[in-house]
Amino acid sequence: MSSNQVYDVLIIGGGGAGLTAGLYTSRAKLSTVLLEKLTPGGQIALTDLVENYPGFPEGVTGTEISQRMEEQAKRYGTEIRYEEVSGVEKKEGFLLTQIVSGQKIESKCVIIATGASYRNLGVPKERDLTGRGVSYCATCDGAFFKEKELVVVGGGDSAMQEGIFLTRFATKITVVHRRDKLRASPILQERALQNPKMKFVWNTVVTEILGQNKVEGVRLQNVQTKETNDFKTNGVFVFIGHDPNTDFLKGLVELDEKGYVKTKEDLTTSIPGIFACGEVRVGAVKQLVSCCGEGCEAALAAQAYLENQK
Ligand code: NAP
Repeated sequence: MSSNQVYDVLIIGGGGAGLTAGLYTSRAKLSTVLLEKLTPGGQIALTDLVENYPGFPEGVTGTEISQRMEEQAKRYGTEIRYEEVSGVEKKEGFLLTQIVSGQKIESKCVIIATGASYRNLGVPKERDLTGRGVSYCATCDGAFFKEKELVVVGGGDSAMQEGIFLTRFATKITVVHRRDKLRASPILQERALQNPKMKFVWNTVVTEILGQNKVEGVRLQNVQTKETNDFKTNGVFVFIGHDPNTDFLKGLVELDEKGYVKTKEDLTTSIPGIFACGEVRVGAVKQLVSCCGEGCEAALAAQAYLENQK
């Protein structure tokens, strides 16, 4: 089923990039619909405290900034719909976006702002025990681990920031990292390394999650000596990076070998009328402030494109 309305702009993804794009296209009086499959804010909604978004010297919670961005885009007319997109087709003079529920929406241009999703470890029992001690979101699940001991996997900003957050609940956090150096920014490294509740196991990977109905431990392997040992824990939080959400785009716009969307300087993709912004894009800086900036750029590029079509 296809609705009769042809939107000027259709935005896929309601994280910082998509919501900012919506704010700008709506304020430019372009009819705008934004499709988001989960919650407004995307990854930022799962973050406890955002300390590096300018204008909030005390920090702002991920939930609050997400809700405020959604409210601001809606205030100027962005129509936000909670729907998952299954594909986009280039037609003669317009783009046709298909929604999983079966509906089809026509628009003159599309802005892809679908970001990226957390990566799994891909080890035995990880999937079975997700929600039973395996988690990818400290803000969502941290409070279930009061007075417990936890393992955090990863050495980047997410692992450090979320690991520090988890020390509010857990008595001990053991960070398991595959190298002997952290990738996280110096300020987060310093805080994590100085936190008395955080311990580090270097040059080590998790090869299996242990437990029947809930997590009871992890099997660890030292990548240098290849020695393995079983380590008791009540929970495992995995923060090992992200993969782009571009499955629905395969065969449409050009992607790189990891699946990120290739864009030109003005954020146009290989198909005229389709733009990409934020974490889904090759070379994007993965920070809320830069994703919002890219949302603005994509909106202005879409506006210029529509002007040229007249
Ligand atoms: P990331 O920077 O890609 O770090 C992923 C970490 O997981 C790395 O330490 C990596 O090890 C490790 N890793 C990757 N695959 C693994 C595997 N299969 N098994 C074990 N370990 C694995 O991801 P992120 O921490 O989620 O951050 C993503 C982006 O968001 C970054 O640009 C980051 O700066 C940004 N971010 C910023 C903030 C902030 O500013 N406060 C907070 C969160 C995220 P190696 O180091 O060996 O590669």
